[in-house]
Amino acid sequence: MKRLGRAGLEGVERRDFLKVFSIGTVAAMSGQLVHRSVSLPENVPFEDMDASIREIANSIELMSTPAPNSADYLNAFLPNPVDFEGTDRPILATTSSPDLGQYIAKMTHYEKSHGEDTYLDRDRYPILISSFKRIDRVQNLVGHGNFNVVSFDEMLAHGRRYSSVGEFTQAEKTFLEELFTANAQRYGFLGKKVINELSAAIPEKDRKKVGRTGHFLYRGESERLYKKLQQDLGNNIVLTSGIRGVVKQTHLFLAKTIQSKGNLSKASRSLAPPGHSYHGVGDFDVGKIGFGRKNFTQAFAETDEFRKLVDLGYVDIRYPQDNMFGVRYEPWHIKVV
Ligand SMILES: [Zn+2]
Repeated sequence: MKRLGRAGLEGVERRDFLKVFSIGTVAAMSGQLVHRSVSLPENVPFEDMDASIREIANSIELMSTPAPNSADYLNAFLPNPVDFEGTDRPILATTSSPDLGQYIAKMTHYEKSHGEDTYLDRDRYPILISSFKRIDRVQNLVGHGNFNVVSFDEMLAHGRRYSSVGEFTQAEKTFLEELFTANAQRYGFLGKKVINELSAAIPEKDRKKVGRTGHFLYRGESERLYKKLQQDLGNNIVLTSGIRGVVKQTHLFLAKTIQSKGNLSKASRSLAPPGHSYHGVGDFDVGKIGFGRKNFTQAFAETDEFRKLVDLGYVDIRYPQDNMFGVRYEPWHIKVV
């Protein structure tokens, strides 16, 4: 059995990559992948999610929340969940004629469903929706800006304290914990896990609110790099997403999963699962002022701002074209850590 080193997939040999690559397919074949058909809007862009999520969630008032701790519920998450220690996750599968071309095609058409995609078990749908809605009410309570840095424990406390949120049920807490600890490789996300504690908090002294953006940056390297970018590129470049704590990332991922009709693979091609986002440890997104939603599309790569960004020579993009992390091309996402 081989293990991925701390560097995740960076630097692994092609042979090793191919082994990793085959996991998604193997997991998909071995799991009981049930796709529930729910009528939802298709392809709502990432940056429109905040606005569209409530509408989406409200349109799928399907069933009531199942009784907490029902055996079905507890067993229904990803088949045969595997433990992994820290960021070194075991490689489970042996090579089974992986197809690099198929992988690239999948990443190019990341918003489409593919035959081998892994879905959340349909039994989990009600809890997916109720968890999402409760977290959404926390966001309404604390505001979009502060929500970026709310910790899991703070979120639970808000639920207990405010009737506008309501206490998180045991079933919701278990679901969120399982989503956090599930091995994301099993549904095709190949990036590293960067936050290992569900309750990880972002201390106030470590973060700084960036004026007029509603976002935070970590003090130190992230803040320095952002300042330097603004100095070198002028104020045409703006922070579009900074620190995202576990709760914020969970909210986005649940929304993306709802939008993807339970297709975890599709969701994770454009949004890192909870605990796997480098926004939690220092990365940030930039865009061009006045470019709006297009900042989160390939159109950003065509702007002068992006060309200048690349020409600076010191900026790394976290998810370049044809990356091997199971993630689409994200020209706007600046690698810091
Ligand atoms: Zn990003």
